[in-house]
Amino acid sequence: MKRLLTSGAVAVLTALSMLAGTATSHAEPKAMLVGTGSGVSHPLDQDPAPSFRIGRSPLPLKLKPIAPLVPPAPGEINEFEQVWCENCVAITYDDGPVPNTNVLLDVLKKKRVHASFFLIGGNAQAYPEIVKRLHNEGHDIGNHTLSHPQLTALSNARVAYEIDSTNTAIKEAGGRYPKWMRPPYGATNNRVASVIGSRDQAVALWDVDTVDWRHRSTAKTCSIAVANAQAGSIILMHDIHPSTVNAAECIIDGLRAKGLHPVSLAELFEAPKAGVTYNSANDGSHH
Ligand SMILES: [Zn+2]
Repeated sequence: MKRLLTSGAVAVLTALSMLAGTATSHAEPKAMLVGTGSGVSHPLDQDPAPSFRIGRSPLPLKLKPIAPLVPPAPGEINEFEQVWCENCVAITYDDGPVPNTNVLLDVLKKKRVHASFFLIGGNAQAYPEIVKRLHNEGHDIGNHTLSHPQLTALSNARVAYEIDSTNTAIKEAGGRYPKWMRPPYGATNNRVASVIGSRDQAVALWDVDTVDWRHRSTAKTCSIAVANAQAGSIILMHDIHPSTVNAAECIIDGLRAKGLHPVSLAELFEAPKAGVTYNSANDGSHH
């Protein structure tokens, strides 16, 4: 884990000078793997396959401060401000919130990790206290539509309704306006992306599909996530499945053992662009 001993602008300058001196030691991450395609994903999955380029440096060399989950004690070094997002991996959970999401949140709190949660509007309305908890504990809340339809089959007006009503549900439950939208099944196209963009939101797909919804195996969810994640990856999971919730600790420990930092999308992407589709932080964007 790369750490700095100072914070703020001084830290950035220090980091840059460190980098300049030892660029080769951490400028090039491990060789890119071919991502786990999502061809065996949701039945309606269209084309979320990643397109990594071998040998390409995946992320710009910059220090990205990460918000602390809990304030550090006086004199304590705040580890969260010293993480290099160069080696970060976004962990994302779809389809909640559900009561079992609380179990996951307990694990994330214990492991000091933020994640992204793509909420279904109907569930946000049903469990506003969990939405509030997600927000209060620093997790990233994204939009996953009101009723989980395949957006590519809907009119623009209907797509807009699915998005807008969910944004409203999230805000009314105590969250903030989401910066990210994830179309159910990853089903998107230029038309859908442009409606999402008109809502000032970026499209979040993934490059690592745990297929957790199909096998419902804690061990498989963990091993697929850890084995395929690389710096800049976005891992797709569903917190509505207890098997997935039970895999969280194993995934966090496994990623950290690989030298990767599990983070939320808000921590991985400083400024996602509205209407742009992201499969990972490595290849930037797709149309
Ligand atoms: Zn979903």
